Amino acid sequence: MSAAACIFCKIIKGDIPSFKLFENDKVFAFLDIQPLSRGHALVIPKFHGAKLTDIPDDDLREILPVAKKIAVASGAENYNVLQNNGRPAHQVVDHVHFHVIPKPNETEGLGIGWPAQATDMDKLKALYEEIKAKI
Ligand code: 5GP
Ligand code: ZN
Repeated sequence: MSAAACIFCKIIKGDIPSFKLFENDKVFAFLDIQPLSRGHALVIPKFHGAKLTDIPDDDLREILPVAKKIAVASGAENYNVLQNNGRPAHQVVDHVHFHVIPKPNETEGLGIGWPAQATDMDKLKALYEEIKAKI
């Protein structure tokens, strides 16, 4: 999807209104319109790209300090930072965004399925060698 058609690029430009929490030359942050909990916010790079791997490092490194500011400002003791990539991974908006989601109790905030798999140390080591060689 092009930046021109992107809903989050329109929010950055001010063409679509948002409850803006923070803005600098590289980062924009605003309240999520369908929050999972009170204070659920989104932190996005101004650089348009669908997935984490599409965003330059210089833009990415400005994101987490802003997520931290928002987590502090929300007053949340417990919270998740979430960034989805691709439809199967629950991404709906194709402009990279980091969710900051307060977790005030069992029912509100992010619910996570965590289908941990049994460990096979030989397979894990082979995978480790494969990935490490590409970093
Ligand atoms: P995803 O599933 O792609 O990680 O999350 C997209 C998030 O963007 C959702 O939590 C959704 O509520 C939020 N969102 C989608 N459209 C808008 C919008 O127009 N304004 C705001 N503030 N949030 C939006
Ligand atoms: Zn965009």
